[in-house]
Amino acid sequence: MATTDQTRAESRPFEADVSRLLHLMVHSVYSERDIFLRELVANAADACEKLRTLALQDHALLGNDPDLRITIAADPDAKTLTVADNGIGMNRDDLADALGTIARSGTRAFLDQLGEQGDGSRLIGQFGVGFYSAFMVADRVDVVTRKAGESAAWRWSSDGQGSYTIEPAGDDAPARGTRVVLHLNEQSQEFAGGAAVERIVREHGSAVPVPIDLVEKPG
Ligand code: ADP
Ligand code: MG
Repeated sequence: MATTDQTRAESRPFEADVSRLLHLMVHSVYSERDIFLRELVANAADACEKLRTLALQDHALLGNDPDLRITIAADPDAKTLTVADNGIGMNRDDLADALGTIARSGTRAFLDQLGEQGDGSRLIGQFGVGFYSAFMVADRVDVVTRKAGESAAWRWSSDGQGSYTIEPAGDDAPARGTRVVLHLNEQSQEFAGGAAVERIVREHGSAVPVPIDLVEKPG
C-alpha cells in the first residue's frame, strides 16, 4: 500500500563503505576509465535478461514492447552520456537497496583488499566495481527507472558526495526499464562524443547478449 512517504523526495546517506568507494572513484587516477561503460552496459544487459526470464512465466510483463535492447546516447551539447534499457527496471525499494549499499560481493572483496594494500587504482581493474564506477567520469548521475508491471517511476540522483535522493520521476521517465544519465566531469568530455563510445562498444559489445543502439543525441 502506498503511503504519503512514498511520494515525496527523500535524501539518504550512502552506507559508509559506499562513501569510501565513491571517494576513491572521484579521486581515481585509474587510467582505464572505459570500464565504467562496460559496467553500465553489463547492468543493462542483466536487466534485460532478468525480464526475459520473468516473462517466460508472465508474458504480460513485456506489454507492447517485447524487443529488449540497450540504447547508448552521447550528447556533446548537454555533456551527458546516457545508457538506457527496457529491461526489468527498479522500484523505490530496489533503488535504495541496489544503489545505496554494497550488495555486490566483488565490491566487498575489493574494499577488503583495499584496506590491506591501499592501491586502489590497480584493484579497480582487478575486481570491477559495478555501478559506482560511473563516478569516475561523472560528477552527477541520474537514474530514472520504472519497474516492469508497476506504474510508478522513480528518479535516483547523486553527486557521489555521501548521499543520494530518490523522488517520483516526471513524465520523461521510460515506459519500462532504466535510464542512467552521466553528467560527465571535465576530464571525461571525450565520452560525450560518439567516437569514444563507439570504440568501447566495438571492443566489448560483442559479448553482450542484447542489441546495442548508439545514437549521437538522446532521441
Ligand atoms: P552487480 O551488477 O554485480 O550486482 P552493480 O554495482 O553493477 O553490481 O549493480 C548493483 C545493482 O543495481 C544490480 O545488482 C541491480 O540490482 C541494480 N541495477 C543496476 N543497473 C541496473 C539496471 N540498468 N536495471 C536494473 N537494475 C539495475
Ligand atoms: Mg553490474
